[in-house]
Amino acid sequence: MITADDLTKALAERGALLEGHFRLSSGRHSDRFVQKFRVLEDPAILEPVARAIAGAFRATQPTVVISAAVGGIVLGYEVARQLGTKAIFVEKENGMPALRRGFALGPADRALVVEDVVTTGLSVREVIDVVKARGASVAGVGVIVMRAPADFGVPTFALLDLPIVSYDAAECPQCAAGEPILDPGSRRA
Ligand SMILES: [Zn+2]
Repeated sequence: MITADDLTKALAERGALLEGHFRLSSGRHSDRFVQKFRVLEDPAILEPVARAIAGAFRATQPTVVISAAVGGIVLGYEVARQLGTKAIFVEKENGMPALRRGFALGPADRALVVEDVVTTGLSVREVIDVVKARGASVAGVGVIVMRAPADFGVPTFALLDLPIVSYDAAECPQCAAGEPILDPGSRRA
C-alpha cells in the first residue's frame, strides 16, 4: 500500500508542493500550497491513493462514494471503481450544496465521503449534511491530504497529514513585506 512517505515523494516529484504567497480557498494566507491536481490528473498516482482509501473502508461496505465537485469527482470515481459502487457528487445550486443530475441517495445507503485536501473541512461537512438530509448514513471520510485536524464525527482516514501554517490577511508576514499574492485555490483558479 502507498505510504505517507511515498505520497510525499510523489507530490514533490510532480511539483505539487508549492512555496510562495498564496490565498487559500478559506481566504487565509500561507507560504505553502498543495496543488492537488498534480495527483488528480495522474492515474499512475491516483490509482494507488484511491486503493488505500478504498481499502480503509471496504469492511464498512459503502453503497456509494460521494464527494464535492470539482476535484473530488476524480477521486470519488476511482475509489468507487475499486469498491464496485457508484460515484456521485455534491455541487452548488443557487449557492447551496446539493445533489443534482438525478443522483440517487436514500435511507438504505451508507455513503463513503472522499475529499482530496482538507483544510477547513467545510466541503466535507457540506457533503455530510447532504448525505444526512437524504436519510443516508456516513460510512466514513477518506482524505488524501489533511492540512489541519478535523473531527467529522465519523471514522476518518487520511493518507498524509501535512499541517498548514496560515495567517489572517491582516497578520500575514508576506503581505507586510509587500509580496504579491497568488490565488491557486480550486474555487477560484
Ligand atoms: Zn499574505
